[in-house]
Amino acid sequence: MDVAATAAQTNALWEAGADIVRIAADSRRDAEAVAAIRDRTGAALAVDLQENYRLAEVLAPFVDKIRYNPGHLYHHQRSKSWQEKVRFLAGVAEEFNCAIRVGINCGSIDPAMKDLFDSDDSIGPMLASALEHCELLDSVGFTRYCVSLKDSDPFKVIDANRRFAKARPDVPLHLGVTEAGLPPDGIHKTRIALEQLISQGIGDTIRVSLTVPNNLKVEEVIAGRQILTDIAEGRIGSVVDTGRRMLNIISCPSCSRVENAAFVELAQKVKQVTAYAMEYPFTIAVMGCRVNGPGETDDADLGLWCGPQDVHLKRGPQSIGRFSYDSILSRLKQELDLLIANSDPS
Ligand code: SF4
Repeated sequence: MDVAATAAQTNALWEAGADIVRIAADSRRDAEAVAAIRDRTGAALAVDLQENYRLAEVLAPFVDKIRYNPGHLYHHQRSKSWQEKVRFLAGVAEEFNCAIRVGINCGSIDPAMKDLFDSDDSIGPMLASALEHCELLDSVGFTRYCVSLKDSDPFKVIDANRRFAKARPDVPLHLGVTEAGLPPDGIHKTRIALEQLISQGIGDTIRVSLTVPNNLKVEEVIAGRQILTDIAEGRIGSVVDTGRRMLNIISCPSCSRVENAAFVELAQKVKQVTAYAMEYPFTIAVMGCRVNGPGETDDADLGLWCGPQDVHLKRGPQSIGRFSYDSILSRLKQELDLLIANSDPS
């Protein structure tokens, strides 16, 4: 809703070389702000519909692309089927000449689809969800769509996108590693996925997703351009030694849902205070909000998600409790020490 700041960030990204700038909108006031931002920038705009899919009709006249997440369609108007909702979105996009991105995300897969697969198969439901949405869009004759299949693990991104490209080589793919984390590790993870996919001709647009303060968001664009240049010029790094047996810290890129700006600093501090455990193959997830944070930390060995006043700490899907921003790091360290003490030394 901060039109001036969002327009300034949009223009900074655009000037840094972003071809498409995505803005998240979850309320009518957000949507009105997008209309005002449209007047202040020449960038191609995509809007990220969060839970409220019906906002598409308010936003479509002002944007070039609408991104929806199949896993979020059920939140509003639960009596309506997802098929009805997608038909509505396709109709709105058609009317206002917008493209659509079907954005599948590992942390928010359609729950109905998740139930059809083994709990340890995270790629199966992502793929199946993407394919059924493509089929529906095809069936209504909507052709201007692309798909993204994002995970925080670059190897899962590679696998999911390769499998999708094999099944639907005709559908454009938007590539990215979600919640890649802080630079430089977040850039490295993204590079691994993009090198493997783009070198094989898979992928049409990209996003580099980094946990950086708002005034440094252009780093995502600079990193993305550099990765593309390196691939084009044959500077492909080895992906054999990936560090997968090392401590893996994932953190979300932050968005309009962050309620405490201390989140980015917290992510940086988590990295510092856990550096001593670098040789242990644990994953620590740091998420910026209470909407997606609880679900997107389930698969991590230790997860932190940020509320307005407190940080919630989890061990896998189990909650440990909530702690102040000042006390969370020492509690995290205790939990990490416990994991190390119980880990297999081999
Ligand atoms: S976890 Fe929350 S704050 Fe972070 S990017 Fe996702 S929705 Fe935004």
